[in-house]
Amino acid sequence: MANGEKRDYYEILEVHRNASETEIKKAFRKVAIQFHPDKNPGDKAAEEKFKEASEAYEVLSDAQKRAQYDQFGHAGVSGAGGFSGGGFGGFGAGTPFGDIFGDIFGDIFGGGGASRGRNQGRRGDDLLYNMEISFEEAAFGVEKKIEVPFAKRCVTCNGSGSKPGTDPKVCPTCRGAGQVRYQQGFFSVSKTCGQCNGEGKVVDDPCPDCRGKGSNKDTKTLSVKIPAGVETGSRLKVTGEGGQGKGGPNGDLYVAISVKEHALFQREENNVICEIPISFIQASLGCELEVPTLDGKVAMKIPDGTQSGKIYRLKGKGISSLQGYGRGDQLVVIRIETPTNLNKKQKELLEEFAKISGEDVHPIKKGFLDKVMDFIS
Ligand SMILES: [Zn+2]
Ligand SMILES: [Zn+2]
Repeated sequence: MANGEKRDYYEILEVHRNASETEIKKAFRKVAIQFHPDKNPGDKAAEEKFKEASEAYEVLSDAQKRAQYDQFGHAGVSGAGGFSGGGFGGFGAGTPFGDIFGDIFGDIFGGGGASRGRNQGRRGDDLLYNMEISFEEAAFGVEKKIEVPFAKRCVTCNGSGSKPGTDPKVCPTCRGAGQVRYQQGFFSVSKTCGQCNGEGKVVDDPCPDCRGKGSNKDTKTLSVKIPAGVETGSRLKVTGEGGQGKGGPNGDLYVAISVKEHALFQREENNVICEIPISFIQASLGCELEVPTLDGKVAMKIPDGTQSGKIYRLKGKGISSLQGYGRGDQLVVIRIETPTNLNKKQKELLEEFAKISGEDVHPIKKGFLDKVMDFIS
């Protein structure tokens, strides 16, 4: 505790790191019964222990939060900070939350009130929401409704955490400063007060409806506008929609986008790539194709003698730019399919075809063979 670190959640509940859900529940029940405020009226230490155990249980009983905690420690579930700018400016792959947390709620990331003094209040936690959208939704933008958890101010105590009719009192440890100083070698170091968590006040008589927290868990529905052009790794910041601040601003909500793969299309920057298989007969004689695009089918003429790998560009049929001007193109890549499972008759016809054609109908092959001859002679 000397360095101001929070205790390990497993240690608090006295369970093994790979304890089962049941074991964790059991362990919490044991600690909760022992230190419950109703059983230990006026006992500060017991209350602290109870709070600490509740927090540990909240995280470890939730598979998702537990996984985050196992990977990132306390930083994974609270008080981490470390978000960069946000908004649409800093987009791109390589954001730290891209694929880490799967597709459910990443949950509470700290905006970190922990190191702030009492005077600034505590900023609410930042939330991370992992959203999966379709290729088309990414191309054109979409509005999505999401359920986000938030800490609703307790109406009974109006957020103070104290039983109605009582007031939180000045924290005896830090005398209201929210910070305590201690000596470390030659240095005087200041850290967040452990008793009041930097708030400068402690609740003596906790509000029964929120157990002294000043807020209760709730969810709300938010409508989030996803702009056209987002890609996997894009992150949107919805200011002020994170956790509720305590005397400070609310945290922010971050929506991390991951785009589902498309059966036909691939993305390269703002271009859409689509491979179209055609037969060697179509390629030889020329044909008319119906090419799927994000805007529906487009008729395309393939001239006779088209080679495999040839790319045709459909201007403006790609993905809208995230910056808001223009669209990419669709690149149609021609793939010539070699016929398989030929029967006797078909083989005979092709052999006949080869006999009357010679190498003149295969200029690329002829050129290649000439080069090979030059090379080996
Ligand atoms: Zn309350
Ligand atoms: Zn204090």
